[in-house]
Amino acid sequence: MARILFNHVYKRYGKYKEVAVKDFNLEVEDQEFLVFVGPSGCGKSTTLRMLAGLEDISEGEIYIGDTIVNNYPPKDRDISMVFQNYALYPNMSVYENIAFGLRLRKQPKHEIDLAVKRAARVLEIENYLDRKPRELSGGQRQRVALGRAIVRTPQAFLMDEPLSNLDARLRVQMRSEIISLHRKIGVTMIYVTHDQVEAMTMGDRVVVMNRGVIQQVDTPEQVYNKP
Ligand code: ADP
Ligand code: ADP
Repeated sequence: MARILFNHVYKRYGKYKEVAVKDFNLEVEDQEFLVFVGPSGCGKSTTLRMLAGLEDISEGEIYIGDTIVNNYPPKDRDISMVFQNYALYPNMSVYENIAFGLRLRKQPKHEIDLAVKRAARVLEIENYLDRKPRELSGGQRQRVALGRAIVRTPQAFLMDEPLSNLDARLRVQMRSEIISLHRKIGVTMIYVTHDQVEAMTMGDRVVVMNRGVIQQVDTPEQVYNKP
């Protein structure tokens, strides 16, 4: 587990060097649940992707702990990410989907087995391990995607609009499941959304972004209950 620090981070895309993220400065505390909120196109995904190593940083530094990770490939950053379109392998069982990342890392079989079953228990999908993704509901599939991310305990856990493809009822249910997941595994979490209700109800702190810059960083109460 570690503190994450963004130090004067910029992202410019393409040959016209359009600025997507501008002078981004932020310290994320160990085990904090942080929400990035703002309109579409304001730079939320770009920021997460730079932290995960999926996008180059144009300027500035990102620290995980005391290490500058700018030049580290994703696999050396020890970060798990869950996307909006949770891509599960359709021909693999739930068990195999969750185990996949551990198999790639050539962990011993009995350790993989323990880790998969622990993740499945936390997410209450231990009775579905033999099923294929198509035999699950949307909410169950989303939990499998979360299971794949939490099967290892990463330094940080990033979620990019993970609930936006679910219907309203499931979204409400999964919101509280993600909050309780954060309590159970105690990992640093950054959650991206354009939904103000999610921003208001989920995080310890909210980072309000607009046009590539941070407008405000504060508790949900401070951000949303201005006098
Ligand atoms: P958000 O996640 O808040 O919707 P993004 O980080 O996806 O915002 O996008 C921020 C800005 O960067 C937008 O103007 C978007 O068009 C631009 N952008 C994102 N990805 C790319 C890319 N691969 N190439 C060029 N521009 C991009
Ligand atoms: P092999 O290909 O060597 O038969 P498997 O991946 O089928 O290996 O299974 C290895 C171990 O993983 C099993 O001993 C079992 O504990 C666990 N396992 C595999 N599939 C499931 C499942 N659907 N539910 C629970 N445990 C499973």
